[in-house]
Amino acid sequence: MKKVGIIGWRGMVGSVLLERMESEGDFAKIDPYFFSTSQAGQVGPLIYNATHTLKDANNISELADMDIIISCQGGDYTKQVRPELEKVNWRGFWIDAASAKRMDDDSLIILDPVNRDIIDKALNDGIKNFVGGNCTVSLMLMGIGSLFQEGLVEWMSTMSYQAASGGGARHMKELLTQMEVIGNMAKPLMDGPILQLDQNISNLLKSNELESDCFGVPLALNLIPWIDSGVEDGQTREEWKAFSETNKILGRSKNPIPIDGTCVRVGALRSHSQALTVKLNKSVDLKTIEDMIRNFSEYTEFVENTPEATREKLNPRYVSGTLKTTVGRVRKMHMGDEYLNIFTSGDQLLWGAAEPLRRMLNIVL
Ligand code: NAP
Repeated sequence: MKKVGIIGWRGMVGSVLLERMESEGDFAKIDPYFFSTSQAGQVGPLIYNATHTLKDANNISELADMDIIISCQGGDYTKQVRPELEKVNWRGFWIDAASAKRMDDDSLIILDPVNRDIIDKALNDGIKNFVGGNCTVSLMLMGIGSLFQEGLVEWMSTMSYQAASGGGARHMKELLTQMEVIGNMAKPLMDGPILQLDQNISNLLKSNELESDCFGVPLALNLIPWIDSGVEDGQTREEWKAFSETNKILGRSKNPIPIDGTCVRVGALRSHSQALTVKLNKSVDLKTIEDMIRNFSEYTEFVENTPEATREKLNPRYVSGTLKTTVGRVRKMHMGDEYLNIFTSGDQLLWGAAEPLRRMLNIVL
């Protein structure tokens, strides 16, 4: 059996990956080893009633003993360790959740329901680095990949509503801590005048009393239209990824489709949503568009453009913990017959992070 090293298993993405691998029986197919940057020598996760002692994630010779390495540790770790493995001539497969190597020529961005043909070609060509895409990019493609595959998209604007857990385990806890403090302040004021309640909570949000080391400002009862660092032209890195990664996944880097928009962190706990404006390159009737979305994959769920269906299914509450990407609010816009309005929600920890890695492991095996 192939030796598979797993790093970052106790983080947000890694925890979801382990949960999925257990429920799909993946551990029966591999000889797993667990690594940590901070807890080497301690007891690792319980898999099929067996515990595993944690290996040191900075020990290159132990890492080089693996046939396959899956890293959910983060970009800094990838940048530090991957070149060291190269130096010792390691020829195993590197499967990664972090963005660090996504745009490198010796790496492929993996989302097999969309680009399985490109993955197979890369394997044949000897590519060893397979990297999960940015979460909103992968979820957008799982929602409307059929429109791209049919060659219908001239350009697209995407406005995201991204959950706290997109930042990792600590960010998720920070949001919940903020909510607890806010709830405790609000409780004794609930029967009093509404403006008093509003004033006290607003003052709390503006004070420095809410823990906000991760997000910089309170996220609860607030939003932050800036994710990751800045790049050129006023874009954030998260917004830049929509264009560059979508086109790399589709194998269109030399003939890219323009994609741009604003990425916004909101107080959802888990799962990202996006409002899309799609400019089609020709007029296509709405029923045909709906059928394309509906039939794209078993993981894509079309939501009728009604208030009931939208409230029930087009949100983090419905998709969290599932492999479904819901797609709704599909309608022609008043700008013209070639302009589509679409809204989509999906669990960024599953199709947006852990699931492409798990499936890539199976493809490699
Ligand atoms: P994370 O939750 O912050 O976990 C990363 C590592 O932080 C863990 O493996 C652990 O490493 C360490 N850690 C320190 N304190 C921790 C705590 N209290 N709980 C758990 N782990 C803690 O990060 P992540 O969200 O999983 O992201 C990992 C990589 O995936 C990043 O490159 C990220 O950009 C990418 N990604 C994330 C998402 C997402 O939605 N979160 C989606 C797509 C891609 P040690 O055990 O070695 O200390």
